Amino acid sequence: MVSQSLLDDLVAAMPQIRLQMYFKSSLTALSHAMEDQVLANQDAPLVIASFQRERFYRQEAHRYLRISEQSDQVYVLAAPEAEFCHASGQYETIAFLPQDALAQEWHLVVLGQTSAGCIVCREVKPDEQKPPELHEDQSRRFEGLWTFNRQIVFKVAELLLQRIVQYRPELAAKARAGLSSRQSQTPPTDPDPFAERLVTYLQVGQYKLDKAYRQMATIQAEAYANLKEHHQQLEALDRTRSNLIAITGHELRTPLSTIQVCLESLATDPAIDPMRQVMVQTALADAERMRKLIQDFLTLSRLESGRVAWDPEPQSLVDALDLAMGSLRTRYGVALPKIRSNLKVDLPPVMVDAEWLVEVLTKLLDNACKFTTPQGRITINSQPGDRPQTLEVIIADTGRGIEADRLETVFERFHQEEGALRRSTGGTGLGLAICRQVIAAWGGTIWATSKGKNKGSQFHFTLPVDDRKLAPSGSNE
Ligand code: ADP
Repeated sequence: MVSQSLLDDLVAAMPQIRLQMYFKSSLTALSHAMEDQVLANQDAPLVIASFQRERFYRQEAHRYLRISEQSDQVYVLAAPEAEFCHASGQYETIAFLPQDALAQEWHLVVLGQTSAGCIVCREVKPDEQKPPELHEDQSRRFEGLWTFNRQIVFKVAELLLQRIVQYRPELAAKARAGLSSRQSQTPPTDPDPFAERLVTYLQVGQYKLDKAYRQMATIQAEAYANLKEHHQQLEALDRTRSNLIAITGHELRTPLSTIQVCLESLATDPAIDPMRQVMVQTALADAERMRKLIQDFLTLSRLESGRVAWDPEPQSLVDALDLAMGSLRTRYGVALPKIRSNLKVDLPPVMVDAEWLVEVLTKLLDNACKFTTPQGRITINSQPGDRPQTLEVIIADTGRGIEADRLETVFERFHQEEGALRRSTGGTGLGLAICRQVIAAWGGTIWATSKGKNKGSQFHFTLPVDDRKLAPSGSNE
């Protein structure tokens, strides 16, 4: 009983037919215009409508009741969902099986003495890969044809009636009579009224679409307003945070300086007994750690809130490295790993702020020393950067190394591998976050590489190179 596509049957019977694509909205407008045309004429046409499902038919049932007042040759087909069944009421209903190819198709035939028209279409299933469209239902697509060509209309009517008789053989005689009485070829009626109706339906469709778009625009505007409000709240929060950091920073710094001065004077007191001396030294070390934390805290807050005035100038990388090494040596004394610089003296100058470059180098070297045993090695190298006019600097150590999944998180504020409470080395957890801010301010990038735990780490960063050539080394400039 289950039959194949009616559209295929038609194309097989009339190969000259050209198919076209239609949106559901166009087919709805066309169908309504054709049905209205029937209602407006005195003609008693043969009308066959095939709906994909009962629910689509339900929306139009009232029209078919009216059409059936005009003609006794009205056939409605649909895949049943609730009540739809084979019946001979005011018009004939044919409930085809849901797995019938008709369930994918949309047909309408109007064959009168003077008018003729048909729609024969098959739904084109949407691409599963594509995201669903906003006006999904209206943009469903159908392939097929819509025509006034009487010969084609007649063929479609014939094919559909065959399907009907397959399901309801008792209708064979009625169907034959309906078709044969409309075989005659009379001149077509004036197409203008049909065109007017069609335009009306298309206009209605467009109004609906416009309304939907207007609603969408309102929703968009509301979403934007909410977003803006959120943004303002975030900005206010950020300002509060910056103020809080600045105020607490300054408030802490002053008393801390006093504490440090007092402790230092105690430490140099020759009368102090060795036990107390140890206590004072511990207190001094902790005070120093606190001072560094406050300093880094303030530095990062200045960098993040954009309160640093940048003024890059051509600088020598080698000189900056010398300064950084100097401060490191005074701090660590002899317990340093071996540090070797492979920087060439004739490197082009880098366009940076000198004191910030020293700060970055000091922080990276400080980390390298902290996480490498005195038996290890630290090497400083440079090479041209990936982008033109940039230099890549690499500070490599043979120390503790970094696990692959931590290479990025180490740049987050307060990130410390051991956690703040189990820390064996001093540190604030802000150093790398500061370095990233500084490097980014000059348009560069900073990243870490490591082969893993205990396999050493490499910190790479890029710096802009001065466009002008460096004065030849040895000149007095
Ligand atoms: P800290 O003050 O703790 O050094 P940083 O921001 O400078 O803060 O570094 C964050 C974390 O990154 C460190 O606590 C450490 O876990 C890891 N790290 C930084 N440099 C190295 C390095 N050279 N070798 C191994 N781990 C490192």
